[in-house]
This record gives sequence, structure tokens and C-alpha cells, in this order.
Amino acid sequence: MSGYERSIRVAFDEKSGEVIEAEQVFDTAKNGFITRRQFHRDEIELYCCECMQKLNVSTSKFDRLHFKHEPYHQPCKLTDSSLSPREIDEINRVFLAKESLRHIELKNKIGTRLAIIEGIEPGTIAIDNKVITLGMEKRRPDVYCIYKGKQIVFEIQLSNLSLKYLLGRHEFYRNNGIYLVWILDNFDVHDQSQMTRDIKYLTPYENFFRLDETVEHFQLNSQYKLPFLGQNNQVMTKWMNKPVKLSELSFDERSCDVYFFDFVTSKAQTEQEQQRIAAQRQAVEQKELETRRMNAAKTKAKEIIDTIKDIKKREGMVYDWVKENISEFDEFEVEVLNAELKLNIRIPGKKPALNRWLAEAKKHDSSFLSFILGCNEIRLEVNDTDDSGLTSLQELYSNELLISKYHFAKALFRRGYILTHEDEKFLVDLLGQKNADQLVVFVACSKLKDRELVDTVYNHQALLCIIESSKRQSITGFRYKPHEWAAFGNNAIEHYKNYWEYIEIAFKKYGIWNKIINADRKGTFQKKLQQLQLPPQAFDFDPVFLELYPEIIA
Ligand SMILES: [Zn+2]
Repeated sequence: MSGYERSIRVAFDEKSGEVIEAEQVFDTAKNGFITRRQFHRDEIELYCCECMQKLNVSTSKFDRLHFKHEPYHQPCKLTDSSLSPREIDEINRVFLAKESLRHIELKNKIGTRLAIIEGIEPGTIAIDNKVITLGMEKRRPDVYCIYKGKQIVFEIQLSNLSLKYLLGRHEFYRNNGIYLVWILDNFDVHDQSQMTRDIKYLTPYENFFRLDETVEHFQLNSQYKLPFLGQNNQVMTKWMNKPVKLSELSFDERSCDVYFFDFVTSKAQTEQEQQRIAAQRQAVEQKELETRRMNAAKTKAKEIIDTIKDIKKREGMVYDWVKENISEFDEFEVEVLNAELKLNIRIPGKKPALNRWLAEAKKHDSSFLSFILGCNEIRLEVNDTDDSGLTSLQELYSNELLISKYHFAKALFRRGYILTHEDEKFLVDLLGQKNADQLVVFVACSKLKDRELVDTVYNHQALLCIIESSKRQSITGFRYKPHEWAAFGNNAIEHYKNYWEYIEIAFKKYGIWNKIINADRKGTFQKKLQQLQLPPQAFDFDPVFLELYPEIIA
């Protein structure tokens, strides 16, 4: 603290119970003299309105007459330099307002009305004469009482006050565990003044009280904000007015706030409700969107199905447009198309759809079969059998009207067809030895895990039969007699030079090499071998070779 000490302008006279102002009592030399004399005769006893410590009358010749704290007094807010002259002026006006008739009327009304309320502890009501001390700070609230074990003070608020002052009061009482109720007299929640804004945010409850003077008993007029949801589900608030009794007030033990309406909880509940409604609306919208999407996909699927039926009826037309269209379907539309086609639904006593088509197809239905087997978006159960156990491959080969059966079989294998033992017996009976090469191809395709390789197998039918014959130690798929290994070898070296490395390694691995040499009595094979000039080797068979004959290179 510096040597300078602020002069005090307002003091409380204990003897008269009045608040006096230095400017008024010292306004003339005569008045000043009287006051000083009274003071020295102990006719007046002056106290600081802020800290309740004793004040003296200044006797300095070089200064205006004023009040001042006694030497070595405890710190007082009014004498340190933390407040601006304006803030000190505000505080002084509060002290002086306490002497206004309105203020006196209000605090007396509050005090006397409280006295007859049930729950007020007898003898606890103090009007302006209860000093509350916390550490070095002291306060003299307008009205003090104990209600149901709780200490409550009522502070009447008549003039504009700074936030610093309001907060100071608030903290002081809270630190003492005392509930503070501001009684606002001419306060308007809609007004835009700084104090209105400050006081609104002083407590999160935003409840404001006025003494209800339309009735004789203690009743407060409460103003509070009510949250509600607007038409567009936005959280809104409106100010409400309600007369409330002391028993209707709630006490927040942690913050020492007093409120009638719990704005905090109500706002949180309103926001929760807002989220619930928003989620509900979103769910409805989402459902509508899905329904629209589903309907659009169904319409699209039905159009395509009708077109397919139409083309099928007209015989022999091309399906390119349909295939191209379906290839542009998204995943969801493909699902819906398959659901609409119902090709996987078995009807008792009837053949599966694909088997029926293959069984009933006429020559002109080839383009339809090519389309349906080649359109990968349309799911087909290629391995389904009818009630008598007939497979789709058997239906295909039983249909005498269909040509290009071998070609359609390729489409079945590409889609994952698995050759059965019955198929093999059936085909041997039907095709006989002269089409044994086709059976070799089918067996190979059926073994493939990667059905993308079916085309490669089909493209290398003879090469496959050469390697397969070697593996089986029995010439298969060629019109040689079982012992004609030399002719078999000559054919291989003559016509499949591009794949000779695959053939040679298979011959040697499976022990066919020696069989050929032994059978090669004319030395033709060996001569060809000596003269062999290998062209660049083709490797397009490699993936099939690796998948079907891994043991050769193992
Ligand atoms: Zn003081």
C-alpha cells in the first residue's frame, strides 16, 4: 500500500442509524465544524459502509474535509486502488440508496412478511442489522433469515450496478454458504443495459425476483426463461411470469443459487427432445429415400425383365443392349434385379430355371442362353439338379435341338459348374471315345479354382490332352491306339513347338519320355528332336499348368 489513502465519502452513523455523505455534512464551514464537534463529543459514531470498521473525520488543513479509516485498519476495498472512481461512486450510491424510502419500505415489507412464514426459524430475521463476516470482509445484507436450516439473504437492487459489485456480493455469500436472492425493483429482462445482461448470466438458472406487492403475504414475482421447441425443431426460449411462495423455491446447495424454474435441466431436456425428434425425422427421411430407391430399382428391373421376355419371344434377336444396360446397374440394382428374377427359388415338381431353359431350348434360343449364361450380374444356380437328379450339363447334352453344346458347357464351367460322376458316365455313353478330348477339358475345368482360366483350357484342348495323357500314362483325346506312343510323341513335337518346354517337362516327369524313345523304332521322334529349333515359347498356358499340374515342377 502506498502512503496515499483514498478519502471516504459515505459513512454510517451508528448513533442515528443513518448513512451520511461527506459532501453534504461538510458543505459549509459551519456544518463541518458542527460535525467535527459532534464526532469529538462522541455524539456520532461513524463506520465504513463497506468494511464496517470505524471511521474518523479528517482534520487535515490541506485537504477537503472527509472521512477516513483509523490508522492501521484492516484492508478495505474502498481505500485500496483496485476500484476506479466510477466504481467507488456506484458503491457509494448503493449505500445511499439503502436510505431511500423505497429501499426502506421494501426491506421492511420483506422482513415482516417473512416473519409469519412456516419454516422461518424464530428470531432469525434481521433487517439491515446483521453483520456477516468472512475473514476480513464484512457485509450487512438488507434482510437475513434462516429458513428450514438454510441461511438466506435478500439484497434489494434499486440502481444500476457493475458486474464487479454483483459478483463480489455473490461470491461473498456463496463462500459463507448463504443463499442470495436479489430483489429487483425496476428490472426489465428485455432491456439491453449492461447490468441486465450481467445479472442474467450471474447464475445459470436465469430466474429473477421482484416482491409481489399486490398481495399482503410474502410472495415473489418470478421471471424465468422457458425453453421450448419451435416449428422447425429449433430450441427457443420465452420469458414467463409466475407468482411464487418461498416454499416453491429450490436451493442449489453447490452454487448457493435460488431458483423457481430449473432452466438448466429444462434446457438440457429440451435439447435432448430436439435430438430425438431430429433423429426420428431423419429416420423417416431415410426410410422414404430407401423406399424411393427400392421402387426405382424395381421399376428398372421389371423393365429389363420385360425386355428380355420380349426379345426371347421374338426369337433370335440380339441381347447386346440388355447386357450393356445391366452392366451399368449399381450393386443395389443388381440385388433387386436378382430378387425380381427369382431364379434361385425352387418350385416343387419343376426343374430349376436354368435346367428348364437348357432342356426346352430350341435352336433359336441359343442367343438367349448365351446371354443368360454370359451375363454375370444375373445369378444362376448352375449346380442345381431337378427332382430326378439331372444336372444342367446333362440337360444341355440331352437337348437334340441345340447345337454348340460344347460352347454352352464352357459358359457353365465359367460360372462354377462342378462335373459329377454321373455326368462323366453320361457323357462317355453319349459321346463315346471319339469325343474323349471334350471330357478331358471338362474334368480340367471342373478342377479349376479360378474359373477365369476356363477359356485358356478351352483354347489349349490338344496341349491339355498331351499333358493329361502323360499323367494318366494312357493316350486320351487322340485317335491313337493305346501303344502308339511314337506317333503321339511325333505329333506333339511337330505341332506344339511353341509349348515344347511344357510338354518335354511333362513327358520326363511322368516317365513318358522313355516310352516314346522305346516305341520310336524308326527314329523319327529322335530325328525331329535333333533338328528341333525352338521358336520363342508361349506362356499363356502357364496359369492352368501351375494350377492343374503343380507336381510337375515341384
Ligand atoms: Zn472500509
